[in-house]
Amino acid sequence: RLDYRGVSENIVYKSTNALNRKAPIPSDAMQSVARAYTELKSLYHALNAQRNARSVVGERIRRSAEENNTEARDVALAEALKIKEEILRLEPALLSVEENLLALALAIPNDTHPSSPLGPESAAVTLSTHGPELIPATPERDHVTIARKFGLVDFEGAAIVTGSSWYYLMNEAALLEMALTNYALSIAVKHGFTPVTTPDVVRSDVASRCGFQPRDNPLSPASQVYHINSKSQDLILSATSEIPLGGMFANKIFTEMALPLKVVGLGRAFRAEAGARGADTRGLYRVHQFTKVELFMVTKPEDSEKMMEDMRAIQTAILNGLGLPFRVLDMPSEELGASAYRKYDMEVWMPGRGAWGEVSSLSNCTDYQSRRLHIRYETHSRTATKPTAFTHTLNGTAAAIPRLIIALLENGATFDEQGELVGIALPEALRPFWIGGSSRTII
Ligand code: AMP
Repeated sequence: RLDYRGVSENIVYKSTNALNRKAPIPSDAMQSVARAYTELKSLYHALNAQRNARSVVGERIRRSAEENNTEARDVALAEALKIKEEILRLEPALLSVEENLLALALAIPNDTHPSSPLGPESAAVTLSTHGPELIPATPERDHVTIARKFGLVDFEGAAIVTGSSWYYLMNEAALLEMALTNYALSIAVKHGFTPVTTPDVVRSDVASRCGFQPRDNPLSPASQVYHINSKSQDLILSATSEIPLGGMFANKIFTEMALPLKVVGLGRAFRAEAGARGADTRGLYRVHQFTKVELFMVTKPEDSEKMMEDMRAIQTAILNGLGLPFRVLDMPSEELGASAYRKYDMEVWMPGRGAWGEVSSLSNCTDYQSRRLHIRYETHSRTATKPTAFTHTLNGTAAAIPRLIIALLENGATFDEQGELVGIALPEALRPFWIGGSSRTII
């Protein structure tokens, strides 16, 4: 159930919030929701009154039949017929208002944390900085140059096989993907997250319920998702394992004791990245497919802000262990998408690109996804008026592989006295996860 009442009672906040988040919805959406909600309530009451009347008249019909009172029975039967006609009129009207209301309310974004900055990406606030001193920007540290020198990535082969922004990871880069994946998984598991390998194909409806909008025209060049040509189902390639992880908990009711639920997913993310151009599309920075380790939590509402800080601490530990220089940003309203109430991004300094690059993202989606996926828990509090309530959900990147590879190559490149690129120093923390087997070592 979406919170229609919450919208109707907070039209000014909800409208301003949608504007602040640049949500693509009509300006009078909240008023329409409020109007439709009032209509829904009055139709619902009218229908209930008619159903009650139906049972009262039914009783009269029975009694008059027992008493052989044909006159009273005929009057009651006529009344019953009128009630039946009224119910037949009200039921579809209620259904249509309900559908209309749902369509309107689905497009309304989550509320925004009062501390989140307002505005575009540039309004992000740096919360903390970590790691070693920044290496000055230099083209010698460009990850594409480094990868070519050591035969780590094949872009040309992938361009022939699939297209541009696809790639083969080779030699140490392929091993690095596995080591990074297991490194991130091991930290998450140590913090009590249950490991899950997720399906990479999901129903588009599940993606919508998580706040992604894949219902664009699959043939449009602007489509941001890969649609699968399936006759029987509306399937897409998942853009993040947040979708199958959220879907795992759909339509479930948990005990209070079972919360928080913590899972860490391993999956491939697929992004059409329609319209992407410029420096970001160079090399591994903005690609169409990548391996991602994703943290996901289901919590009681009162715990989600604290859990967000716990997840941030895990992400911080992962990047600190890799010895990378990074900063944590409190993301502004226009960067929150539909589902996030608050979002922190982590950016690593990439000296070859000469820029900070986003490597992870952490969102508290409060009850946005739970309401749409029907994830609930049993409330035992004395003040609770209902036996169940919606949970909160959170998701955060533990490791998005290509950008971590960029960061490790560009920060770890080593040069001899002549300035010749000779190797890459990889962090000690990866050693236990390095399966070796390469004919040479660049570590
Ligand atoms: P998002 O789910 O969009 O917040 O992305 C999570 C993380 O995945 C980002 O912080 C990036 O590290 C990484 N990422 C997102 N899009 C891409 C892409 N097209 N290519 C490579 N990495 C990406």
